Amino acid sequence: MRGAGHNSPHRLNPTVKSDCVANGFITLPKFGKVKLIQHRPIPDGFKIKTCSVTKKADGYYVTLSLEDKTVPTIKPDFNPDSITGIDVGLKEFLTTSDNEVTAIPQYYRKSQKRLRVIQKRVSRRKKGSIGRQKATKQLGRQHKKVADKRKDFHFKTANNLLKKHDVVAIEDLNVKGLARTRLAKSILDAGWSSFLSILTNKAENAGLLVVPVKASGTSQDCSSCGVKVPKKLHIRWHDCPHCGCSLDRDHNAAINIKNRAEGHPVLKAQRLRTAIAGLVEKPPL
Ligand SMILES: [Zn+2]
Repeated sequence: MRGAGHNSPHRLNPTVKSDCVANGFITLPKFGKVKLIQHRPIPDGFKIKTCSVTKKADGYYVTLSLEDKTVPTIKPDFNPDSITGIDVGLKEFLTTSDNEVTAIPQYYRKSQKRLRVIQKRVSRRKKGSIGRQKATKQLGRQHKKVADKRKDFHFKTANNLLKKHDVVAIEDLNVKGLARTRLAKSILDAGWSSFLSILTNKAENAGLLVVPVKASGTSQDCSSCGVKVPKKLHIRWHDCPHCGCSLDRDHNAAINIKNRAEGHPVLKAQRLRTAIAGLVEKPPL
């Protein structure tokens, strides 16, 4: 037996603890505590799984592989038919195509109010005064509290969706012109875009899929017959005069989002793969 790999003196795979990286140091067996230049931070909710140390001309390199502990099961062969669409609402945080609603949590609105109160306190007090310094500190703490709560809510909501579905269709919100609308403000308030990045990361780590689809017209088109049924923002119900379809506005939009994702090439490929596997598994006649 010869060659590189595990026996190479230039490469080691020590067993490390999940908390081996802290404050710019890494703790390795035999080496002990070593100073570390970290190129990327370890994201929240992830644990260090394996570690490899490589010797290069300009020093030692440590490569860490991470594991997301918060997603319970990994499905390498996702089911393309286990799919839901989600719609961002002005009223609710999200509505799925199965008409499951996730409300914007009450505490979030409350802490937003408190944030405004402290913000006023800061601007009322004289610049440079101790009173203003105190209020500024208070404001910083409140901001962190709001951010923490929101993140926690986003993680829980993403987990709930991925527990039930293998594929989640979303509106592609990277659209020009959206910034001017009322919907854009609601998206900012609810932190929709940071939620989507958490959802996408979690899905990727679990071998599942998030599919962004074209956003235009999802609330106007009828999810049953496809004809456009124009309605203003305050109209909360979709009543189709062409086919008689009648359902909640956001529910209708979520079904459209789901339908638009159905033709995604990854889903088609997965269906084909499942079909071929099914053929192979059939006993010969
Ligand atoms: Zn219709």
